[in-house]
Amino acid sequence: MKRSQDKPEILLEHHLKALRLPVFFRERQKTAAQCAKEQADYGEFLLRLSEAELLERERKGTERRIKTARFPARKSLDDFDFLAAPSLGKAQVLELARCEWIEKRESLVLMGNPGTGKTHIATALGICACQRGLATRFFTATGLINAMLEARSEKALLRLQAQLAKAPLLIVDELGYVPFSKTGAELLFEIFSQRYESGSILVTSNLPFEEWTSVLESERLTGALLDRLTHRAHILAIEGESYRLAQSRRRRCTARQEKAGSHSPEAAPSS
Ligand code: ADP
Ligand code: MG
Repeated sequence: MKRSQDKPEILLEHHLKALRLPVFFRERQKTAAQCAKEQADYGEFLLRLSEAELLERERKGTERRIKTARFPARKSLDDFDFLAAPSLGKAQVLELARCEWIEKRESLVLMGNPGTGKTHIATALGICACQRGLATRFFTATGLINAMLEARSEKALLRLQAQLAKAPLLIVDELGYVPFSKTGAELLFEIFSQRYESGSILVTSNLPFEEWTSVLESERLTGALLDRLTHRAHILAIEGESYRLAQSRRRRCTARQEKAGSHSPEAAPSS
């Protein structure tokens, strides 16, 4: 008796596994009980299970893309204090978070002094892309060049380039801190050329375009790279000083005021 009762369950588990529907199997009894309680029909039962399966699949896909992207940290636009970066239009950043620019294969350049939130915004936008199903890769400019040099010495450069080309969004962070070797600059140029109109690049830099020659060395190469990058590009500048520096200055200032306040005659208890 028990065996014949178990059989459909075992078969169901097998079939749902073979169909890769683990949430259907896991949630079937709970959903059935809920549907019975609410007198929901079979159609509703199937709908609820398929929605749960779909949500789980999307969540896992997003997690996988975030892991593959190798962001330096998890950052979101919700944690970003737009009041501290008034030159950066919040509406424009929220629009970019919808990722239509990536679907249109446009580029984005974020410029600003160190500590103004370029990596934060780049990461947050990259995570938005991952949530929308768009594969993303994050590198510092130096890290990308090193990865390519290493791949080249192992005769795996074409494979790396093909891997990068598959991602609709490539983030190149920190262009400008370290000058590149001639080969490094050429490899970076090659990546930018390959992606031109076939994928999006998000570049962050502490340098204005006029100064990019100082890291890419060759004026000719810089011109050609900028020509590709800035054609159909969104260019955002974050003005001001480092966010953390401003914060710690504010904290010190508040502490001084509090200290002064506790010693001032008005603050002292009258006797
Ligand atoms: P950058 O890449 O421009 O040098 P980061 O993005 O690394 O700057 O910012 C440095 C730190 O300050 C990070 O921890 C970042 O999250 C934080 N930060 C910078 N700007 C803001 C901001 N406007 N709101 C909240 N956090 C910020
Ligand atoms: Mg940075």
